[in-house]
Amino acid sequence: MSKHQITNKCTSCHACGQVCPTESIFYGHGQYVIDLDTCTGCKVCVPVCPVKAIIPAGGEEGSSSGTSYEEEEN
Ligand code: SF4
Ligand code: SF4
Repeated sequence: MSKHQITNKCTSCHACGQVCPTESIFYGHGQYVIDLDTCTGCKVCVPVCPVKAIIPAGGEEGSSSGTSYEEEEN
């Protein structure tokens, strides 16, 4: 599973920070950020974000490299 990151679409609503099982999401530099050292890529945070600001780290949205992270179960 790929680690995740938060883009600048984040509105700091705090929703994701409450659901992360590894407490990898914290507030810093004006928005929420994910600690890639502890993020397990579980994707629990992805569906709770109202602005879809959480994306796989290293993979751009809509990139052609192939990984789409819809609601697939692992
Ligand atoms: S993918 Fe999982 S471990 Fe990583 S920040 Fe989101 S909820 Fe936390
Ligand atoms: S749920 Fe989305 S908008 Fe809310 S704090 Fe997390 S990344 Fe930001």
